[in-house]
Amino acid sequence: MLFQDNERYQAMKRERMVKEQLQPKGIRHQATVESMLTVPRHKFVSERFQDMAYQDTALPIDKEQTISQPYIVGLMTEALQPSSGDKVLEIGTGSGYAAAVLAEIVDEVYTVERHQDLAQQAEDRFELLGYENIRLRVGDGTKGWVEYAPYDGITIAAGAPVVPESLADQLVTGGRLVIPVGRKEGVQELMLLKKKADGKLARSSLGQVRFVPLVGEEGWNKGR
Ligand code: SAH
Repeated sequence: MLFQDNERYQAMKRERMVKEQLQPKGIRHQATVESMLTVPRHKFVSERFQDMAYQDTALPIDKEQTISQPYIVGLMTEALQPSSGDKVLEIGTGSGYAAAVLAEIVDEVYTVERHQDLAQQAEDRFELLGYENIRLRVGDGTKGWVEYAPYDGITIAAGAPVVPESLADQLVTGGRLVIPVGRKEGVQELMLLKKKADGKLARSSLGQVRFVPLVGEEGWNKGR
């Protein structure tokens, strides 16, 4: 297939995914919907999975990690209530897809990935696709990214045993944090935390999810 024809075909599949899978499942936040209609998810997976890029499923990427299911990316993005002018931190860059979805909406995206190889591939994709408002760092994201804190929103794309204190500390008052908390292998609860004026966190649940483990000092480490 010619390049342009293929891009048109992928765009059509993307629109069907959003309209037939994500919106019926309850994704409503307008900016999130528009962003997911725009970001070419097929460019964030290896060639052999391209045909599956617009099915609403997680897919394998390198280092035994996964690109999250589109619905979950939509749910997490919407829960952050992102708007232009915001500064957002993501832990677990993986393929870079969720960071790109955020980058379409907010001013600045900071993202941290512990695997150098994945980080490099994501960085290459950001450059290829022209995402100049994403800054990536390789390292343990459970400590956040102090240099650019505080953030309006923080999203963690890996399952944690508890909410890392360092991350909660890096939220603005009124800021939102989305994180899967629970078992290392198995099911976690996707939690939404909002920082109140008194510094305390108001918690609510967004449902059950299944993520790869958050590995690091304030995540799953040798002591756990
Ligand atoms: N947002 C990604 C999904 C990534 S899967 C996407 O859209 O493709 C979770 C990622 O978190 C994996 O790449 C894993 O390597 C990374 N990860 C796990 N623990 C981490 C930590 N402590 N710091 C940074 N990244 C971490």
